[in-house]
Amino acid sequence: MDEDRAARRITLAGGFVNLLLTSLQAVGGVIFGSVALLADALHSLTDLVSDAVVYMAVRLGAAEADENHPYGHRRFETLASLAVGLLIVVIGVVLVFEAAERLQSQTWASPEQPALVVAGITIIAKEGLYRSTMRVANKHNHALLRANAVHHRTDALSSIAVFAGLFASMYGFSSGDLIAALVVGLLLVRAGLRIVWEAGLELSEAGVDERTHTAMQELIRSTGGVEDLHLLKTKTVGGRIFAEAHVQVRPTLSVTQGHEIAHRAVDRVMEAIPLLQDLTVHVDPEDDQEDAPPLPNSHVIERAVLDAWEKATGEAPVNLTLHLLVEATTVVLVCSPQLGEDVIEQGKGAVLGVDHVDHVQVLSPR
Ligand SMILES: [Zn+2]
Ligand SMILES: [Zn+2]
Ligand SMILES: [Zn+2]
Repeated sequence: MDEDRAARRITLAGGFVNLLLTSLQAVGGVIFGSVALLADALHSLTDLVSDAVVYMAVRLGAAEADENHPYGHRRFETLASLAVGLLIVVIGVVLVFEAAERLQSQTWASPEQPALVVAGITIIAKEGLYRSTMRVANKHNHALLRANAVHHRTDALSSIAVFAGLFASMYGFSSGDLIAALVVGLLLVRAGLRIVWEAGLELSEAGVDERTHTAMQELIRSTGGVEDLHLLKTKTVGGRIFAEAHVQVRPTLSVTQGHEIAHRAVDRVMEAIPLLQDLTVHVDPEDDQEDAPPLPNSHVIERAVLDAWEKATGEAPVNLTLHLLVEATTVVLVCSPQLGEDVIEQGKGAVLGVDHVDHVQVLSPR
C-alpha cells in the first residue's frame, strides 16, 4: 500500500499547484485582458477536479477485495478516469466554440505584457508536475497516475500555446490570443477523448495487449509438465491483470501432479508479469475446446465398476483408477494377489459390461 500512499501524495501536490495556477490565470486573464489565459484557467480548473477525482479513486481503489468486490476496488479508478475524460471533452468543446465565435466576430482582446509572465509561470509549474508525477507513476507502475502525468505534460504544451498566442497578440497579430484559446480547447478535447477511450477499453473487458498476451502464453507453455495451452483469457481492472488459462497435461497424471504443475505455471507467470493480480489455471487432459461432447459421470461409472467387479470376483479391488477422455474411458484396477487368472478374466468381462467403459486393465501384484 506504499505505492498508493505515494500516488495520493503526488496527486495532492498536483491539486495544490493547480489550485494556485487556476487562481493566478483567472485573475491574470481578467486584469491583463487575455481570453487565452482565461481559457487556460478553465483548463486548470478541470485539472483540479480531475486531481480531486483521481485522489478519491486511488483511496477507494486501494481498498482490499471484499465480499462485494471480489476482484478488488480498482475499477473505481477506471470509472473515475471515464468521468474525468468526459468532463474534459465537454469543457474543451465549449472553449473551442467560444473562441471560434469570437474569432468570427473579430472581438479581439488586447492582452497586456504581465499576462506573458503568468503564462510563463504556468509552463514551468506544469512541466515540473509532469516530471514529478511521472517519476512516481513509473516507480510503482501506476496506470492512472501515468495518465495524470501525461495530462500535466499536455497542460504545459497548452500553456506554451497561450504564451505564443499572447506574444503574437502583443506584437501586431491581434487574433493570436483567441487562436491560442482555440488551441487550448482542441488540446483539451484530444486529451479527454484519449482518457475516455482507454477507460472504455477497460470497461468493455478488453484483454491485455498482444505482447503481454504472447509473453504469458510462452511462460505457461514452457512450464515443465505442460504439454499445451488451449485457452488464455485476460482482462484488466484498474491496470491489474486477471487471467484464466487451460493447460493440457499428460492425461494419466495424478491429481496431485497436475495440481503441482498448475501452481508452478501460475508462479512463473506471476513472477514475470508484475501487473498480474490473479491467474486461474484449469488442468485439462486433452483439448476440450472444440464442442467436445460432455464426459460421462465418473462417479456413477466408478460405483458401477466396483459393483460389477465385486459381484464377479467376490471381493473389492485394492485400487481403482478411471481415465476419462472424450474418445474412451479406461479402467485401471489393482486386484488382490490371491485372485486366480480365470476369476480375473470374469471380473474383466463384468467391468467391460459397465456403461461407458471401453478398456479395462487389471494389475495383479502377484
Ligand atoms: Zn479446456
Ligand atoms: Zn492449489
Ligand atoms: Zn477442462
